[in-house]
Amino acid sequence: MKRGFLIDMDGVIYKNDQMIDGADAFIDRLLSLNMPFRFLTNNSQHARRDIATKLKCTGIEVDESHIFTCAMATARFLARQKANGTAYVIGEGGLLRAMDHNGYSIVDSKPDYVVVGEGHSLTLEVIEKATNLIDGGAKLIATNLYANSPTVDGIRPGCGAYVSLLEAATGARAFSVGKPSPIIMRLAAEDMEVAAEDIIVIGDTMETDILGGVQVGARSVLVLTGATSREDLGRYAYQPDLVVESIADLNERTLLSHLSEKSAA
Ligand SMILES: [Mg+2]
Repeated sequence: MKRGFLIDMDGVIYKNDQMIDGADAFIDRLLSLNMPFRFLTNNSQHARRDIATKLKCTGIEVDESHIFTCAMATARFLARQKANGTAYVIGEGGLLRAMDHNGYSIVDSKPDYVVVGEGHSLTLEVIEKATNLIDGGAKLIATNLYANSPTVDGIRPGCGAYVSLLEAATGARAFSVGKPSPIIMRLAAEDMEVAAEDIIVIGDTMETDILGGVQVGARSVLVLTGATSREDLGRYAYQPDLVVESIADLNERTLLSHLSEKSAA
């Protein structure tokens, strides 16, 4: 059976732009064993090459082919739903590039979809435009439904917050492709040519990483270096297969043997 890893970034391999100890060694092991893996992010703002460059600055060197974003998932999903469609996009380079790469035209009149991602360019004028387009029949697509995302200074509103505004204004309900949607998990698995149920998800957030893994029948590992503490776990109806303090505690051999024991049980 061919296994592949989907690894969240913030809170798993870095925090506040600082690499988490041992993340580089874990990734080097995966590379040396030729194990398929993707860094899976719910941030649609940056293109995969920009993310690979940022990772390099934190001390993790990988080719951009190891990055998979919710912008890529959204664009691939829409291309399958409607080839060569049109979209009005609220977002930045990562999302615009992914849409273009998947055959979509970016328009501001009569689009098939209004697609929402993160960015710094949201204005009331843009909200008003999107509201009118949705009211006119464009379908509302969210790259993710995160209400906020962490910054060095605290939090900032995320894609989910923008989407809530458009939902309230139009009465439409957004369809989301990012984590924990099975769509992004399956598309990322497909990108590695690994079956979705043979994935191992490594993440710090129950609502996205772990739930996404559970929803496609993948194995999941929760690291405690990010959003979730051991005490939080009792609140959830679903649980990860393995909980570790940090990615530094993951040895791929013990990990694989632990997870296959679980599988056999
Ligand atoms: Mg995270």
